[in-house]
Amino acid sequence: MNQNYKEGDYIPSKGYFHICKYPNCVDPYFYGRKNQKYHPDCKKRNDAEKAALKREKTKEENEKMAKNLFILEELYPRSGGTFEIQISEFRIRGFDFQAPSRHVKTEINGYSCFIIHGYAYRYIKERETIIIYKKDELCRV
Ligand SMILES: [Zn+2]
Repeated sequence: MNQNYKEGDYIPSKGYFHICKYPNCVDPYFYGRKNQKYHPDCKKRNDAEKAALKREKTKEENEKMAKNLFILEELYPRSGGTFEIQISEFRIRGFDFQAPSRHVKTEINGYSCFIIHGYAYRYIKERETIIIYKKDELCRV
């Protein structure tokens, strides 16, 4: 019966025929409004699962960012906005260069820097080193 209809068919006295889009739906054929994609309960479950996934992803990125910030704080006294530190020191500590940060160019020299909260760092490709700044020191580089 149901299988003879296709998505969007209008069946008099029943409504529009649909196949529920929720991946875990146990009984996906239903009749409903014209543009309805889910059973009402499936829509709720689908939205809740999507929101949970999003929270999980944000949490993961926040944790990476927090770890990077911790490493910058730890190494800052050795760099102090002046001295270069080998990139290997960052890698040993587990610094994640893919983690979220804000990219800026400094006003004086146009250096590319990455800001994480109160700190910023600049990668010097020729020597594979990094200088760490406090964010408010960026105005002089
Ligand atoms: Zn469903």
